[in-house]
Amino acid sequence: NHGFFDHQDYHVESPVNGLSTPKQLIGDALRRRVENIDHEQCAPGEEDTFFVADLGEVYRQHLRWKLNLPRVKPFYAVKCNPDPKLLELLALLGTGFDCASKAEIEQVLRMGVDPSRIIYAQPCKTNSYVRYVASQGVRQMTFDNADELRKIARLFPDAELYLRILTDDSSSLCRLSLKFGASLDSTDSLLALARELGLNVVGVSFHVGSGASDPNAFLRAVQDAHVVFQQAAAHGFDLKTLDVGGGFLSDETYEGMAGVLRAALDEYFPAHSGINLIAEPGRYYASAAFTLACNIIARRTLEGDMSAMKSVDGTMTPTSMDGNVETSYMVYMNDGLYGNFSSIMFDHQHPIAKVLRAGGCTLYDTPAAEASCGGVEYSIWGPTCDGIDRITESIRFRVTLDVGDWLYFEDMGAYTKCSATAFNGFTNEHDVIYVCSEPGARALLGM
Ligand code: PLP
Repeated sequence: NHGFFDHQDYHVESPVNGLSTPKQLIGDALRRRVENIDHEQCAPGEEDTFFVADLGEVYRQHLRWKLNLPRVKPFYAVKCNPDPKLLELLALLGTGFDCASKAEIEQVLRMGVDPSRIIYAQPCKTNSYVRYVASQGVRQMTFDNADELRKIARLFPDAELYLRILTDDSSSLCRLSLKFGASLDSTDSLLALARELGLNVVGVSFHVGSGASDPNAFLRAVQDAHVVFQQAAAHGFDLKTLDVGGGFLSDETYEGMAGVLRAALDEYFPAHSGINLIAEPGRYYASAAFTLACNIIARRTLEGDMSAMKSVDGTMTPTSMDGNVETSYMVYMNDGLYGNFSSIMFDHQHPIAKVLRAGGCTLYDTPAAEASCGGVEYSIWGPTCDGIDRITESIRFRVTLDVGDWLYFEDMGAYTKCSATAFNGFTNEHDVIYVCSEPGARALLGM
């Protein structure tokens, strides 16, 4: 018993041996779990979706951050994935935390993190939450409008305030500037009001949008922030900190993005200026660390070409374009758009299925198991009764999948579990099996 089915607690897998690669460690954890399930006899829920999290990946991302942005202290954006072990590791690594609600702040404080390592980075806050943070000594928070300044003056006049400015987020996956950020036309009057209200403005913050792809968005935002620092000085504020927000991807674009940001910071906020630099990365830390395994719970066989099947009125026509009859399948998994694949809807993601186990054989990381052309065509659906609950319109695998087989999805750590619902009674409480491919992180966590 690996404790796999215990939702209350989490389970840490130790490395199989000192030489395992991260992929092998993840693969072993996935395989051990699914091979232990008797799909014919198991109790409801034992075949549920589960995650494997490699905390070593988080540790490597932290080293990569420090290498590329050594002057910028990360405050991890808890919203992205509030996994307790992930937060514990980041706390041990010394990061701060960006929180947006009482529950997030409470979770971080409960770990023993000092309130000074938290920024309440929500420009439009709930009154009772502001009173709560005041009582807990969490002083740093953002604002971007006059009403919020008056709220803070009433509820927490000693707060340390960051003026969040508007950015050009047009090249990001998730745009935030529609909702938040003060335009440069309004910053001067906001600073004047803050002064009049006797408030304590300590810095400027921005966010170029989540999943940003244009490094120049960072350059322009740093330039704008520099202007606001000067405006603040004219109002008698001595700003101490620039918060460059989140938006960083964890893929190979990170180095380029960080390079542009680093150069902009060195030009406009050089080390000798004494300005502290912080950031609020979320997906950068969490995305690649989590792999999701899902069970195929049902299958529908389609005789004929799949594209012909999906006629506009939804009728199924068993004819193919070239006259050949091809068998294809709709497979239904126990996780979908309303669950951990909420990232398709909210985060514009396109998770790619890979075969974990088919016909009693584990095929994890077996290139031959997948094929972009040839093979059998599938569409992949979630478990709810809603027709939008589709993960993949068309994908081909060399193997024939059936009920009881398993698929897995990599890079499922960001904006997945945290925004999963329990719609239709399908649980959104899924087990996480932790592995750790980095000795440094294992030592920190005592694993
Ligand atoms: N900070 C704030 C204020 C945010 O709204 C977000 C995401 O929406 C983040 C940080 C994290 O962004 P990302 O995950 O793109 O790094």
